Amino acid sequence: MDHLNQQQRHGSNARSPFFTEEHEMLRDQVRRFVEEEVKPFADAWETQGFVPREVLRRMGALGFFGIRYPEAYGGAEMDTLGSVVFAEELGRSTFSGVAITALVHTDMASVHVFNAGSEAQKARWMRKIVAGEAICAVAVTEPDAGSDVKGIRTTARRTSEGYVLNGAKMFITNGVHADIYCVAAKTGPLDGGSKAVTMFLIEKGTPGFRVSRALDKHGWRSSDTAELVFEDCLVPHDAVLGQEGKGFYAIMKNFQNERTVIGAMAMGEAQAALDLTVDYLKTRKAFGAPLWEKHAIRQRIAMRAAEVEAGRQLVYAAAWRDAQGHDVTREVSMAKAYCGDLVNAVMYDCLQFHGGIGFMRESTIERMTRDARVQSIGGGASEVMLEEVAKRL
Ligand SMILES: Cc1cc2nc3c(=O)[nH]c(=O)nc-3n(C[C@H](O)[C@H](O)[C@H](O)COP(=O)(O)OP(=O)(O)OC[C@H]3O[C@@H](n4cnc5c(N)ncnc54)[C@H](O)[C@@H]3O)c2cc1C
Repeated sequence: MDHLNQQQRHGSNARSPFFTEEHEMLRDQVRRFVEEEVKPFADAWETQGFVPREVLRRMGALGFFGIRYPEAYGGAEMDTLGSVVFAEELGRSTFSGVAITALVHTDMASVHVFNAGSEAQKARWMRKIVAGEAICAVAVTEPDAGSDVKGIRTTARRTSEGYVLNGAKMFITNGVHADIYCVAAKTGPLDGGSKAVTMFLIEKGTPGFRVSRALDKHGWRSSDTAELVFEDCLVPHDAVLGQEGKGFYAIMKNFQNERTVIGAMAMGEAQAALDLTVDYLKTRKAFGAPLWEKHAIRQRIAMRAAEVEAGRQLVYAAAWRDAQGHDVTREVSMAKAYCGDLVNAVMYDCLQFHGGIGFMRESTIERMTRDARVQSIGGGASEVMLEEVAKRL
């Protein structure tokens, strides 16, 4: 395949107004890592239910965990589009469980430490985070509160010795294997609304904090997901991340980056599914010709390709504006809803056109279809995103 074809095929952006040479170098580096160090091994990670720690350390050594962070911590100080490139290329790996393991660490959990942490907290953890030596989780969702963050019921009671946490957290990515957890709890009254929420930085092994179970999922099977329990868990006063009562605002602010990254990952997944489906349709013969000759099929795929291009450009534009310092809540909410729903529609069609083999566990599209399902739920369900958009119309 010549260079131009390669670019067209994978939605590469050599001539995009959004990306610099540095972004393109990162894209090449992540793509090479995925081909050489993820794809040949990730089936085994799907079976064991987590990505090995040495792989995460390797990602740290390659600089992937410091894309957004200052050089002082070993990072590359890139902008939002750096995260987009990383997420899109991990999404294209076809193993979204691997992608989300890394992206929760880089763009959803460690951002709480970097954005709100004290100098002492950052000095203690940021280098290890960037190196992949300390893996992060973010624990907001609870068994009885997901979309409605203000409804969390985990409490953190202030005492002279510190804060005492009680409660449970649900669906926590990296929950079993993380080293540090950014945990939301109520320091104010349960009905105290947004001002009652505070974020805490809690280390694995703190007495009273335990992983109560690893969860068995429909997809993202190489990502570990856990339920956590806090039972009279005492943490020092300086475990607060940022200020008491400001946790809700920190969560909402960091959601913008999280949702941009999830949108980028979804468009990487969708592009990979289209690519492998076009390959399949060009070789699979029925009624005397490749299935690709059927107009009904190729026009459907062509329309999906157009939609994926639109979704991708929406993510890029939102990330670019974010990097310029604009408020992009509306665009990011649009992108999260659009890309989360679209990746599912793309997977449905791609599996359909694979026929029976698409329903078999041995086919890549079967795994990708399962993995995509959560994209319209996690990190803000599509309906919740559309409410955010509607408020801003
Ligand atoms: C695999 C996985 C990994 C996750 N990782 C993490 C993590 O690392 N950390 C973390 O804190 N959380 C995590 N989550 C939680 C995730 O963000 C929540 O599942 C999500 O926010 C939805 O919350 P819920 O499951 O409680 O659904 P609910 O809030 O009970 O909502 C159920 C459904 O109702 C609909 N709905 C909800 N609100 C509205 C509304 N206002 N209008 C219309 N319809 C609505 C939506 O379709 C939604 O899917 C993860 C979830 C999954 C499945």
